[in-house]
Amino acid sequence: MHQPRTARTVRAMKLSALAFILLVVNIGILVPLVAYAVLEQDRQLLMIALGQIILGIALLIAYRVAGASARCSLCACPVMLSQSCSRNRNAKRLLGSYRTRVATAIVLTGKFTCPYCGEATLCVPRQRPGQPQPQPQPHRH
Ligand SMILES: [Zn+2]
Repeated sequence: MHQPRTARTVRAMKLSALAFILLVVNIGILVPLVAYAVLEQDRQLLMIALGQIILGIALLIAYRVAGASARCSLCACPVMLSQSCSRNRNAKRLLGSYRTRVATAIVLTGKFTCPYCGEATLCVPRQRPGQPQPQPQPHRH
């Protein structure tokens, strides 16, 4: 299993994955909310929807900016962004999307399989040789 070289890449992967999932959830709530608010002509609900649109734009920016740095440690493809290059033939989707699968895997399990090279990556920065290993914390009673 591969590991990213830097903690910055790991942070970018986790931030991009979380922002992407929140963005999908946000859109899933926003669409019926706007439809209901327009049908009922509810100004208060429309103001809430406007706040959600602003939140969605912020999430989109966070997802895209962090996603540009979240590159696979083997093939260097940005795993959270759509690329025109061909994907691995064993790449799997979740709800019809490769990104959704990568994002849920990063958030839920802390590892993912790159849809481009098909290699598994653990979202923990790689230890450099000569660097002290993290010591396990002593138990406090
Ligand atoms: Zn890859």
